[in-house]
Amino acid sequence: MPEASTAAALAPVYVIGAGPGGLAVAAALRGRGVPAVVVEKADEVGASWRGHYDRLHLHTTRKLSSLPGLRIPRRFGRWVGRDDVVKYLEKYAEFHELDVLTGVAVERIEALPEGGGWRLRAGGGRVLEGRAVVVATGFNHTPYVPDWAGADSYGGEVLHARAYRDPEPFRGKDVLVVGVGNTGAEIAVDLAEGGAARVRLAVRTPPYILRRSTLGWPAQRTGILVRRLPAKLVDVLADPVCRLSVPDLTDKGLARPSGGLYTRVRQGAIPVQDVGLIAAVRAGKVEPVAAMAEFADGEVVLADGSRIRPEAVIAATGYRRGLEPLVGHLGVLDDNGRPRTHGSHTARHAPGLYFTGYTNPITGMLRELALDAERIAKRIAKSR
Ligand SMILES: Cc1cc2nc3c(=O)[nH]c(=O)nc-3n(C[C@H](O)[C@H](O)[C@H](O)COP(=O)(O)OP(=O)(O)OC[C@H]3O[C@@H](n4cnc5c(N)ncnc54)[C@H](O)[C@@H]3O)c2cc1C
Repeated sequence: MPEASTAAALAPVYVIGAGPGGLAVAAALRGRGVPAVVVEKADEVGASWRGHYDRLHLHTTRKLSSLPGLRIPRRFGRWVGRDDVVKYLEKYAEFHELDVLTGVAVERIEALPEGGGWRLRAGGGRVLEGRAVVVATGFNHTPYVPDWAGADSYGGEVLHARAYRDPEPFRGKDVLVVGVGNTGAEIAVDLAEGGAARVRLAVRTPPYILRRSTLGWPAQRTGILVRRLPAKLVDVLADPVCRLSVPDLTDKGLARPSGGLYTRVRQGAIPVQDVGLIAAVRAGKVEPVAAMAEFADGEVVLADGSRIRPEAVIAATGYRRGLEPLVGHLGVLDDNGRPRTHGSHTARHAPGLYFTGYTNPITGMLRELALDAERIAKRIAKSR
């Protein structure tokens, strides 16, 4: 089916979201002579990165995290810090002379009749029409906090990891971090090093922990090498590596993981890159405890029935994609709210509607966003 009628072919391609994914697609389109406009709800590019906690560094290497057409500067080091990621994204938009419309939130995408392209309904009644749309609103779109029972009875502070910046407000406090993904693990370490009186980490499923690099070899490169191997084989290969490189922390409350490293990745659980968790748990500075079940009588009840009384609870409990209002009516999302198609592929009934950044790959998301950008741009350029 043609992507758009002749009239619509003159219209630009709209890219929703000026994070790394959207900027990369816009640059790749521009590189192929396709006019593209990035629509961003925040006032600046890289909004998600501006909001991340101070301590954050990429756990993927600089070389494997660059977007098409502009390398991350060498002076930013091997593991690029948050502020430098933001600087890079700003420079990226400027270097590629991207057309970024900031302060405009897209609320709904509608198909124009007869394959004539797409209509974007945005805040303030603004309507935009494009021949194709690339949705790049982020995997980590809407902070998710479980609906814990008894929350009204709790007098302490409850915040999502998204709102955490640095340990200062928690100095001298007893804090519970819920969730041991990369974010929860790093915030727990940050709190312990930053003067919190006590840091507990609520763990539902013990994670696979990997050294960010071993003898200079980054874990990300291993992820790239094994990405196409059968999950069961990678599980078998990874097991001894994990056992050798990560000490047994069972007596500290963190049991050895099970289920197979790559099998769990395929289920959506990315291993935790060690940026201090192992040492902090060994030293007793971060205490793993059972999963958080609920609040009751002003206390936190853990899954093993024990009760604790932290002064603050930080929910590192993930995000939702938040795509339903935008495209939920178009039949392009699966039961988990994720796009059914990804990258250069589009649904048969929605040609010209692309999605990038809604997977969580072991090879590094920025690397995948860069690859997807080229594929999407190539496909759109071809369909003119
Ligand atoms: C804490 C953390 C650490 C990470 N570290 C790494 C790492 O080391 N290496 C790696 O490869 N990946 C990493 N990632 C994953 C990934 O690279 C980043 O999340 C990256 O920012 C994803 O880019 P994106 O463009 O898809 O989404 P985002 O960066 O989230 O950008 C989405 C943009 O869309 C805008 N937007 C959303 N909705 C709308 C709307 N309706 N209308 C208009 N604009 C909208 C947002 O304001 C935002 O600017 C990390 C993620 C997190 C959360």
